[in-house]
Amino acid sequence: MNVLVLNCGSSSLKLQVIDTDLERIEFDADRVLARGVIERIGSEALIRLWVEGKRPLRRTAALRDHRAALDYVLRWLVSKEAPIPGLDSLSDVHAIGHRIVHGGERFLHSVVIDEQVEDQIEDCIDLAPLHNPANLKGIYAARELFGPALPQVAVFDTSFHSTMPDSSYLYAVPYSFYVRHRLRRYGFHGTSHRYVAHRYRKLTEHAPETTNIISLHLGNGCSACAIRRGESFDTSMGLTPLEGLVMGTRSGDLDPSVLDFLHHKEGLSLDEIDTLLNKQSGLLGISGLTSDMRELLREESEHQDRRAHLAIEVFCARIKHYIGAYLAKMNGADALVFTGGIGENSAEIRRRICAELDFFGIALDPARNDGLASGAEGRISQDGGRVGVWVIPTNEELLIARDTVRCILNAPRRW
Ligand code: ADP
Repeated sequence: MNVLVLNCGSSSLKLQVIDTDLERIEFDADRVLARGVIERIGSEALIRLWVEGKRPLRRTAALRDHRAALDYVLRWLVSKEAPIPGLDSLSDVHAIGHRIVHGGERFLHSVVIDEQVEDQIEDCIDLAPLHNPANLKGIYAARELFGPALPQVAVFDTSFHSTMPDSSYLYAVPYSFYVRHRLRRYGFHGTSHRYVAHRYRKLTEHAPETTNIISLHLGNGCSACAIRRGESFDTSMGLTPLEGLVMGTRSGDLDPSVLDFLHHKEGLSLDEIDTLLNKQSGLLGISGLTSDMRELLREESEHQDRRAHLAIEVFCARIKHYIGAYLAKMNGADALVFTGGIGENSAEIRRRICAELDFFGIALDPARNDGLASGAEGRISQDGGRVGVWVIPTNEELLIARDTVRCILNAPRRW
């Protein structure tokens, strides 16, 4: 089954076409056929499209909205420029899987999209005003271009965390706000945490029911997740993705009084403070240079830049804080799993995070940590340590494609 996986942002569209079915899932034999990224939708868009294993095609074109962007992609997909065996016309796309950011409390699992589901995703716009409208645009565009008969499936960033107990998800504010507005912690990156936890258990032949994992997704956005007996028990992002770890441009945790302080000292409005905390803080805010970890590490080592150093130190310290918290909350863990652009690629950041955690049975093997190739999965801790440390590249698109197949075929979700 060829599944088109779509991830629509406010001005972007990312896609993959993945050939998968229940048998391929069983044997990890899913195949990526094509990929694409379109940015700056709404003006002169930047387009990168490629058949797996071939060189990317780079272009610009005026694409006024998500429908125009998807139309562009689909024309390319069935053109001679993209020679993909088994994909000659749009009827060779058998289903669409959408990444949906916020499913509120309604969606505990991925679902086949119908009118009611669309309405409920719309109801969650209050909770994710930037993300859910863009996700919906992707659903509408796909329906227009493929027709209503093609099954579409919604896979939510929040669903995996629906197993969190109330002691993890409640804020200590008057309970009436939770009752009236569902004001609570939801968590995000669920598809990524779920995927790496599954991979870890598969690689080590552990059963979900007996395994506790701390998963660290460190990319531009960063979150930690305590996965207890196969289920999300706690996670660092909250009502929105702003809470928790230090990220590329997001502050993560802070004293809520900071808002009032900034308002009075700087005369900033709530909207301005929201932008400041989401877009101008985190690694970028502390360093004053960049949100890009690779560049910060370079500035630190080549120019001994003090603020680049500070940004990295605060980033790593916050992660340590959460590791300690989750070890306490789960009464220990079998493994610590690194994923995301930073987690997968930076041996140096992994080294700093895991330094002086031997009290907890966490000890890296320097040769394994330094020697792990980019994109590879493997254990980087010393033999015999109480907590294994692993690097497992995330693959949210694959999980979306697999959930799409399972939803359509009504097959059980085993992880
Ligand atoms: P997104 O969250 O947007 O998907 P990624 O998961 O691709 O982002 O992560 C992007 C981050 O990963 C950037 O901060 C980038 O600098 C960092 N990164 C990628 N490769 C390396 C590397 N080799 N060393 C350090 N950081 C890296």
